[in-house]
Amino acid sequence: MQCEFCDGETRPKKVKRSHWFQQQLYIVEDVEAEVCMECGERYFHATTLDKLDALLKRQHPVRARLNVEIVNMAQALAQQGN
Ligand SMILES: [Zn+2]
Repeated sequence: MQCEFCDGETRPKKVKRSHWFQQQLYIVEDVEAEVCMECGERYFHATTLDKLDALLKRQHPVRARLNVEIVNMAQALAQQGN
């Protein structure tokens, strides 16, 4: 397909996606996407995202767990004092 932002050509590729489902954040590897070769924009088919939701809803293997910092940019900049 053609990129909506830059008209570049997209290619099918497996990517890492951060994905919210039922108030929880998941990092999912090897998700099928169309990726723009020019600007890197990623497009996901609705069917892929539905499949992902269904998969997360069921029991699934967890490859690793992360601790994640949530940072507010404005607050962080204000505390830096510049
Ligand atoms: Zn593009």
